[in-house]
Amino acid sequence: ELTLDLYEKWLRLFAKKVESNKAYLSELDTAIGDGDHGNNMARGVSAVEEGFNLKAPEDLTSALKLTAMAFISKVGGASGPLYGTAFLEMAKASSKTNDLYDLLEVALAGIKKRGGASAGDKTMVDVWEKVLPEIKNGTLTEEKIHEAVEATKDMQAKKGRASYLGERSVGHLDPGAVSSGYLFTNLLKAEE
Ligand code: ADP
Ligand code: MG
Ligand code: MG
Repeated sequence: ELTLDLYEKWLRLFAKKVESNKAYLSELDTAIGDGDHGNNMARGVSAVEEGFNLKAPEDLTSALKLTAMAFISKVGGASGPLYGTAFLEMAKASSKTNDLYDLLEVALAGIKKRGGASAGDKTMVDVWEKVLPEIKNGTLTEEKIHEAVEATKDMQAKKGRASYLGERSVGHLDPGAVSSGYLFTNLLKAEE
């Protein structure tokens, strides 16, 4: 079950992780993209933290909406609208359920609809696809998240900027998969 407290704790941990790995995320994106993923994500998570600090959200739906708006309005590129859509779909669904898996499931559906990527395309979707069933079963571990992220290394990109490189995208981690890995490892931390 996703409560407001857990959600805020989770997003603040995620924000710290992204901020301290901003250079690394951009470095990964330099290899197969345009080198801005760390900056993009850091801008998004800082706006989320600012939003939380400015006025504490009163319920989960507003906290999720605030997150979505931060990503949609503050982050350009592919990742802003994609993460934004994920949180916006969760916000919408949160009026009916606060089951974490159900919320993440609609978030993933939103990401896939928006970006048209499926498993194996070397995007953040690869991490979400592997992590969600583990959340459903209560079997998610850091190790499994790590494996899902690492698996993008051998894939050839079929979506996003990295796809322009064709076969040359093979052998590099997908930056969005790494940031989504941070999202889920910090969910585990927040739940501890
Ligand atoms: P941009 O590529 O516009 O510079 P970012 O660098 O912030 O945006 O984000 C790149 C990441 O976005 C990729 O590593 C990948 O995980 C994700 N991504 C890109 N296009 C798609 C897509 N169509 N569907 C899902 N994820 C995508
Ligand atoms: Mg980029
Ligand atoms: Mg860009």
